[in-house]
Amino acid sequence: MRLLLATSNLHKLREIRAILSKNKSLELLTLRDFPQFKLPEETGTTFEENAILKAISAAKELHIMTLADDSGLVVPALDDRPGIYSNRYAGENASDKENLEKLINELHNIKPEKRLARFECAMALSNENGDLIKCVTGSCEGSLILEPRGNKGFGYDPIFIKYDYNKTMAELTEDVKNRISHRRRAFDKILITLESLGIPC
Ligand code: IMP
Repeated sequence: MRLLLATSNLHKLREIRAILSKNKSLELLTLRDFPQFKLPEETGTTFEENAILKAISAAKELHIMTLADDSGLVVPALDDRPGIYSNRYAGENASDKENLEKLINELHNIKPEKRLARFECAMALSNENGDLIKCVTGSCEGSLILEPRGNKGFGYDPIFIKYDYNKTMAELTEDVKNRISHRRRAFDKILITLESLGIPC
């Protein structure tokens, strides 16, 4: 069975591939296999809406069962910013470093005990006709620090302290992050859906 992972973020692809590494029944395709296809603009107002938009548009155009995700960091003390704008928080085409710096500047005005955050991930699965099969969510809670630590992961990982580990996401090994992340939690629910469709996972 072919499954298209509709993301152009190489870090996310690597994580999802690692989570699925033992699965031999799925042939994973990525947008690199379809260079002519461009994901639509993320015009949704929630992670779910954006994930659904991406999954349906890719499946309709490419006629392949498609899994798309939309994710980001939610900081309640900042009215849930950066939220769905996580990848462009410091502006269109901003780098991870620029987004991180903007967030750290804002966190200086927040009391340390209020620097709480959660990563959220929505994953949408569409069949090859572009009909939505399922949209699920996963989250991962922690707190934020002002001095980045660690060089693994991506995005906001260097300032996100995962409770229980007392390490930033960027200090955890890939294996550990892939067991506890928001993406993993959403993905586990998608695996149940795939199994219910008769696709062994
Ligand atoms: P998307 O590609 O529109 O879903 O945006 C995802 C953005 O959210 C990324 O560019 C990061 O800024 C942030 N993000 C999502 N997941 C993670 C993660 O696991 N670690 C760090 N940042 C993340």
